[in-house]
Amino acid sequence: MSQSVQSPLSVCVYCGAREGGKPAYMAAATDLGRVIADEGWRLVYGAGDVGLMGAVARATQAAGGDTFGVIPVHLMNMEVGKRDLTSFVVTENMHERKKVMFMNSDAIVVLPGGAGSLDEFFEVLTWKQIGLHDKPIFLLSIDDYWAPLNALIEHIIAQGFAADTTAQLYKTISSIEALTEALRAIRT
Ligand code: AMP
Repeated sequence: MSQSVQSPLSVCVYCGAREGGKPAYMAAATDLGRVIADEGWRLVYGAGDVGLMGAVARATQAAGGDTFGVIPVHLMNMEVGKRDLTSFVVTENMHERKKVMFMNSDAIVVLPGGAGSLDEFFEVLTWKQIGLHDKPIFLLSIDDYWAPLNALIEHIIAQGFAADTTAQLYKTISSIEALTEALRAIRT
């Protein structure tokens, strides 16, 4: 009798290419990277070795986990393409990168970051809004980092430019422990 083997949960992490202004951000990135390895999940991310991106990947690797990185060729120098990942994919452009990351993921986690992380968040949010996917999206709001983003989305809803349901398309979580539970729940 054949038994099907489920592939590991692939967790796509969007986060800053910088370290940010509080040690708590890098600490959260490191903790998340280790959790991904310890749980037997796979990290999917932008393949850089800078800022929070590098911290997540190094922590997953250090704990023996599986890493899948995708970087566009023109960012290989700027974001220090991390070639020693389990899988290292170089794309022609940013659109291809985001597509490959998204297609290889079961869930999306957004750590603190800048315009690039916001771009990635809004892309998966808007795709979900128009029914293109139903993957869970988690905002990891370390030290309330994403509170202004939540306020902006509430404002957009209050002013009639988005449906009330938009706020239900993603979940804001404030600790690695709660995020771990939420990710575990995807497969139970
Ligand atoms: P940031 O949050 O600005 O530090 O960027 C985090 C990551 O998002 C980096 O790897 C960027 O290359 C990436 N990114 C994705 N989409 C974009 C975009 N449209 N503009 C700038 N960066 C982007």
